[in-house]
Amino acid sequence: MHRVYNFSAGPAVLPEEVLREAAEEMLDYKGTGMSVMEMSHRSAAFDEIIQTAEQDLRDLMGIPDNYKVLFLQGGASQQFAAVPMNLMKNGVADYIVTGQWAKKAYQEAQKYGKAVKIATSEDKTFSYIPDCSDLPIDDDADYVYICENNTIYGTKFKTLPNTKGKPLVADVSSCFLSEPVDVTKYAVIYGGVQKNVGPAGVVIAIIREDMIPEKPPVENTPTMLAWKTQADAGSLYNTPPCYGIYICGKVFQWIKKMGGLEAMQKHNIAKAKVLYDFLDESKLFKGTVRKEDRSLMNVPFVTGDKELDAKFVKEATAAGFVNLKGHRTVGGMRASIYNAMPIEGVEKLVEFMRKFEAENA
Ligand SMILES: *Cc1c(COP(=O)(O)O)cnc(C)c1O
Repeated sequence: MHRVYNFSAGPAVLPEEVLREAAEEMLDYKGTGMSVMEMSHRSAAFDEIIQTAEQDLRDLMGIPDNYKVLFLQGGASQQFAAVPMNLMKNGVADYIVTGQWAKKAYQEAQKYGKAVKIATSEDKTFSYIPDCSDLPIDDDADYVYICENNTIYGTKFKTLPNTKGKPLVADVSSCFLSEPVDVTKYAVIYGGVQKNVGPAGVVIAIIREDMIPEKPPVENTPTMLAWKTQADAGSLYNTPPCYGIYICGKVFQWIKKMGGLEAMQKHNIAKAKVLYDFLDESKLFKGTVRKEDRSLMNVPFVTGDKELDAKFVKEATAAGFVNLKGHRTVGGMRASIYNAMPIEGVEKLVEFMRKFEAENA
């Protein structure tokens, strides 16, 4: 068997232990005589899977009882619509646009009400997080929206914006479970799981109960996009992405076993340091993000020469370091070093980069 070091931004690397366990249980899940893919979502076996997954997530993040945990489909992108549809009571929302995903969410919200761009870092190709300590928050704003970790550009909010009392909504797709979080600071936290938590097909939304309207304020909101539909049904209004939820549950247990979110954060800081320290001393490679805003999860870098970038990606791939090509909109390279990437993967990548630098100086 051959496994590479996979630096994909998503779908991304999963813990090997989780994959092995899933493989072992594939044909006969705990004596049921079938795989999780083949069982009813109303069965006792699946009920235990989803209940345990929710409880483990609650334990890991310290999610208070007045927050619902929903396992949904449609990806993070579908929540770009669900957020305004459920929350735009006054028809106004403030968006902080720090990258492509925030921009898409902002554009989608414009379909349902007045979405206001109150800050952006687009002037410098989204390479920093703007100062959000005193923004012109609208008096009528139903919420303030951020994308907490910008997967494509490699920036992260190190302090949450001052929302002046307005509910905070955060897309955490690419930093989910990477560090401890104070859930009470948010009204809504959501993320596609395929970056740091599980396979594509599941989006998890953690929503304070008072943010879930009886009836969405946006007229003709589809039943499936009204949060209340799935909140009342325990995410089982219709068939959920059963197998994806099962794998997420295994990842939650793996994180618990590794020591929880504090341990994840320590491991992620140590890993990112190896790469950032190298980028800071290298004469060939350099990071593209303002230092204080650097993400622990996504690390973009360039040589400054497109041909050399391409040569690097090609040689790295041949050496077993795959998916290092930067996003098509920014070029260069990007190493996504999520929870499941072992530190040896980053150390060996840096060793390879050092060698490439010496050969191409
Ligand atoms: C990948 C990503 C998305 C899009 O997720 P889908 O599940 O493909 O819709 C949205 N936001 C962020 C921050 C992402 O990294």
